[in-house]
Amino acid sequence: MVVIRGATTVAADEKEEIRRAVAELLEQIGNTNSLNKDEIVGIVFSSTPDIHSYYPAKAAREAGFEGCSLFSAVEPEIDGGLPLCIRVMIFVEKNLTPHHVYLRGARVLRKDLTAHYNIAIDGPAGSGKSTVAKLLARDLGILYLDTGAMYRACALKAIGAGADLEDEAAIADVIRDIKLDIEYADGVQKTVLDGRDVSEEIRLPHVSMAASVVSKHPAVRMKMVEKQREIAGKLSCVLDGRDIGTFVLPDADFKYFLTASPEIRAKRRYDELTAKGHEVNFEELKAEIIRRDEQDATRDVAPLKQAEDAVLIDTSDLSVEEVLRLVKMRMQEMI
Ligand code: C5P
Repeated sequence: MVVIRGATTVAADEKEEIRRAVAELLEQIGNTNSLNKDEIVGIVFSSTPDIHSYYPAKAAREAGFEGCSLFSAVEPEIDGGLPLCIRVMIFVEKNLTPHHVYLRGARVLRKDLTAHYNIAIDGPAGSGKSTVAKLLARDLGILYLDTGAMYRACALKAIGAGADLEDEAAIADVIRDIKLDIEYADGVQKTVLDGRDVSEEIRLPHVSMAASVVSKHPAVRMKMVEKQREIAGKLSCVLDGRDIGTFVLPDADFKYFLTASPEIRAKRRYDELTAKGHEVNFEELKAEIIRRDEQDATRDVAPLKQAEDAVLIDTSDLSVEEVLRLVKMRMQEMI
């Protein structure tokens, strides 16, 4: 015997609304779990005390669930409880993994089933977006998608092929059959290009610059954006980039735009690269960051820009923890 749970809410305490809501809930549970009515042994409903116009059990019988035991009860009043809510437990004579179904606002009752959502974090190089995005995703238990890594991988492939980075047709040709996988191991993103782990290589300064060049080509963008939308459509995730809030996911649930002075951004990149043993010149790095900003902000397609509804955070004088706290605070306010 397996128990499947579910809940829904009604717009009003009215007979027809209760009948509709119960029929919809049972139908969805049936579809989600591939159930036949004759596999159901019993259905138990409970409803909040603000529902008295109709018995959910009666509504179920009228919806065609006649061959099983049906029962409804009224729950006691609970302070702050979800109003106009009907809960159900379905007892099934079948060996299956139950998929519980929570509809119409009742989803909030199950933290583990909370709705799919996306967080967009945009900003220029070195603004701290990837660091914050990674930590935020870890804390929320959702995926982190580094979209810059995707453009970097395209650039690396183009460099390897000796293609002219400015030539859109040539680059489109190089990436036509690109095999680009974003993999996760222990919460760490790995960028795998044509079967090779290029996670480190794509961080080198010459690849950064090349990424900024190839990413301005519409052919490259459309291919990458399609991939990003596909992932974000399936999974809750934090995406960081330049155009997430404005172009990739204009309907993202939460949007942030991080920025910082060029000096500080260059310093962060310098520390990051030297810590990995790379030899870099600070002034060159700073000039390159400024050039890359300019290139990213002035391109025709999906330029680097703050979305109108994004929360702006200047991270120049903030620690990573402070930025993360700010981001979470604003999220709470928006919920
Ligand atoms: O964020 P990151 O520095 O890794 O990005 C590398 C380059 O990829 C950027 O300079 C930008 O030109 C491009 N990019 C983009 N759109 C994104 C992410 C990155 O054009 N969403």
